[in-house]
Parts: sequence; structure tokens; C-alpha cells
Amino acid sequence: MKTKVAINGFGTIGKRVADAILKQKDMTLVGVTKTKPSYETRLALAKGIKVYASSPDKIKLFDDAGMKVAGALEDLMKEIDIVVDCTPGKVGATYKPLYEKYHVKAIWQGGEKHDVAGFSFNAVCNYKEAKGRDLVRVVSCNTTGLCRSLYALDQSFGIAKSRVVLVRRGADPAETSKGPINSIVPDPVSIPSHHGPDVQKVLPHINITTTALAVPTTLMHVHILNIELQKDATEQAIMDTFLAYPRIMIVSAAEGISSTAEIVEYARDLGRLRYDMPELVVWKESIKSFGREIYLTQAVHQESIVVPENIDAIRAMAKLAETGAESMKLTDESLGLGR
Ligand code: NAD
Repeated sequence: MKTKVAINGFGTIGKRVADAILKQKDMTLVGVTKTKPSYETRLALAKGIKVYASSPDKIKLFDDAGMKVAGALEDLMKEIDIVVDCTPGKVGATYKPLYEKYHVKAIWQGGEKHDVAGFSFNAVCNYKEAKGRDLVRVVSCNTTGLCRSLYALDQSFGIAKSRVVLVRRGADPAETSKGPINSIVPDPVSIPSHHGPDVQKVLPHINITTTALAVPTTLMHVHILNIELQKDATEQAIMDTFLAYPRIMIVSAAEGISSTAEIVEYARDLGRLRYDMPELVVWKESIKSFGREIYLTQAVHQESIVVPENIDAIRAMAKLAETGAESMKLTDESLGLGR
């Protein structure tokens, strides 16, 4: 029996998670919701995905636009085991009573607070604790990236203290009304930014302080990490550690990948759908060791890094795979990651 999944909110994250579910053998995409008859609705219907209006009063809008919906959100809830909520931040939490009413398991995204689910997820860090849960929150793009590298370093060398500067993309490529356009915005000006405390929702024992800036770019985020380890680590040992973990890719400036633009070009050359790069990207030349004190620079493709995590969250909650390693292998093979 395949696990029956719905996506509520078919935008940047929702459409990617939907495409990823279509590639899994142990789960099936029952349908997605849309608030209005957009080009994305038309594309979903053309792919054979069933679309449901986000509320019954909107069905007529779709009918009038010549787009045939299968019903409304509540109809979809009756047919599924798990809903992946990909509505905008803070909207997702308002749906909790509905998900509870239909006794469906629910996954929220990083735009919601930890409390909505009481459990924040990252596949490599805490798959085991997510097994069989009814409510899970997949942490944000920045937190996912930090969890991947910090967990790997902590397992190998122990982390005494980590200090991270996050250079955040101002908006996603299609968000034409967001900025900044011509400014570097400390966001927030005060320290810490929310990212460090969010990492601690997944890895409570990690000592971390984060500070963040928003800049005029749409492609990716970049993080500069300065970490004090509990024991010495050579640059090669750090590289070897990262290479031993899934979803961490090492790239080299010497080979021509010296910016986020070139990472995106690389993703295009790999033939990745929508130039997605769900792997955390670490620059080889940025890994610098002073014994116990190390530096590195990593890049996060905000639109796709959480996609494989959502698939693993579904597998954990539905108990479709025993271990995180088993689930991540299935997910990564299906999405062509790690090649
Ligand atoms: P988005 O705006 O691109 O997509 C949200 C979708 O939900 C849109 O299709 C919108 O029409 C729909 N929607 C709006 N209100 C709705 C409602 N009441 N009911 C049903 N659908 C509704 O947003 P996104 O970037 O995909 O973000 C979704 C979640 O993922 C947020 O929690 C966000 O913080 C998180 N997230 C976003 C990114 C990113 O970089 N975009 C990265 C990681 C996590």
C-alpha cells in the first residue's frame, strides 16, 4: 500500500515536493490545492495531477477559467494519509484544526514556528525521532543547510562553538515585489538572528550564534561559518567528513565554480529541473583549519534544499523506511542527487 499524500499550497516549495513525490515508489500524490486558476494550475492539470480549490467558494473561479478541479481542500483531506503544508509562512498553522479534524498526519515548512508540530526535522539529524509521528515541521532552507554541515562536523570532531554569518537572498526569482534592490540589510540588526535558535530545535546541544544580512540577489544564500571544534581537524579530514555524508557537495573555485551564479550554471549543466540544487554546496578552497578553529563557506539553494527532507519526513512518519540512511538513499536516487 502506497502512502497517500496531498500538498496544500502549490507554490515554490509545494510544486517541487509534488514533483519529488511523483518519483517515489512508496507514496502517491493524491492531489494539490490552488487558491486561483493560475498557469501553475494549468501545468499541474497537464501533468495529470488532480487539483483541488483551497475552499469550496473558489471552485467556480476554476470552472470559469476552464480548469477542471476535483473538488475542494476538505474533499482532498478525506482521501489521504499525510498532508504536506506548503502554504505561505504563518498561513500553515491556521490549517492545523482542519488537519486534526480529518485525522491526517501533517508536515509544515520552516515558515511556521516549531510549536505548530512540536518537532523540527532534518533527515540526517533526527529521522529516527520522526518515525511514526503525526506532526512534523521541516526546518527552513538556511536551517537545513546549517544542520547538514554542523551535524557532520559535530559527529566527527565535536563542536565547541559555532559562529555563522548568513548572507541571505533578498527574494525568490519570481517574487518581483520583494527586495532589497539596492541595499545590504542587516536582517535582523540585532544578534542573534532566528537561525541559530532554529538549528537548536533540531540539534539542541550545538553552541551557535548567527547573524544575517539580506542582499539583492535571488539565486542562493551563502553562509560563512567559523567553528571551534573539540579536537584538531585538518582540511582534508573536514573534506572527507563532508564527502561521507549525503546531500553535501564540494565544489572548487579552481574548477570555475566561484559564485552562486556558477553553481546555478552547474545545476543547469547537470540537467537539473528548474536548476534545482538540493545539496548543500561547500567550497573546497573555503575550508581552512587553524587546528581546532576552522572556517568554511557554504551555499544553499533556498527553493530546493528542503525538498528531499520533505520526502524523508513522509517516509519517517509513515514508517516506510527503517533508517534515515535507507530513506535518504531512496530519495536521492530518485531525484538524481549526489551524482
Ligand atoms: P509560495 O508563496 O511560493 O507558495 C505558497 C503557495 O500557497 C502559493 O501557491 C499560494 O497561492 C498558496 N496559498 C496561499 N494561501 C493559501 C491558503 N490559504 N490555502 C492554500 N494555499 C494557499 O511560498 P513558498 O516559498 O513555497 O513557501 C512555503 C513555505 O515553505 C513557507 O513556510 C516558507 O517559509 C517555506 N520555505 C520557503 C523557502 C523558499 O525559499 N521559498 C525555502 C524553505 C522553506
